[in-house]
Amino acid sequence: TISPLIAGNWKMNGLRGSLDELTALAGMLTTGEAPRALVVICPPATILSEVVHQGATAGILAGGQDCHTESHGAHTGDISAGMLADAGAQYVIVGHSERRADHGETDAQVCAKAEAAIGAGLKPIICVGETESQRDSGDAENVVAAQLAGSIPEAASQHEVIIAYEPIWAIGTGRTPTIEDISSMHAAIREKLTARFAEKGPSIRILYGGSLKPQNAREILAVENVNGGLVGGASLLAKDFYTIISAV
Ligand code: 13P
Repeated sequence: TISPLIAGNWKMNGLRGSLDELTALAGMLTTGEAPRALVVICPPATILSEVVHQGATAGILAGGQDCHTESHGAHTGDISAGMLADAGAQYVIVGHSERRADHGETDAQVCAKAEAAIGAGLKPIICVGETESQRDSGDAENVVAAQLAGSIPEAASQHEVIIAYEPIWAIGTGRTPTIEDISSMHAAIREKLTARFAEKGPSIRILYGGSLKPQNAREILAVENVNGGLVGGASLLAKDFYTIISAV
């Protein structure tokens, strides 16, 4: 069985003041029952090293939200995977739907970013997920299959990668797929991973993301092939995020 992982994606939220929430979360994790999941926070890069240091005593790991495909060079405003690793990150989200939409990232670019992450010793959290119209027209599984085929580098056969299934229409909307839909999509993803990566496939974590919150975490995280969650809004408040972690 795969040990579960719960990651918080703070997106473009979080000034130094948000570190109070991290302190609160660390307190809950150290005084409460030991968490049954690995806990990762992906804050804005400006406070990444603070998250690394403040989270360490509570076993909270840190991740970036994106990285460049190149290791260094003339790319104003971008951050390389090696820089995230240098700041103490162990993970990096790549191919989030907001990056695919806002910055036109393609599967090929996401794949190159995941490769760069692996090259820097990071574990990439590779995001996939369909739009609402793709789901309505019955294309969700095909869309996700194509994203998986194009976004996961071959290096995943030798190195740890994590997949996050995030239906775009469920992100920040309060709406989630039915348990049956989550179950069948995660089973379909597992099948693709196993078909491509053979014996490695069954060990790759598949996270669910999209309006995961205290009220639905227990039910969703219990679904077969759901090996944890990628949490946006509900990761910003320590109490809510702790409740989700405890639901594993
Ligand atoms: P919400 O949890 O706010 O729906 O966001 C999900 C997400 O995009 C995490 O990466």
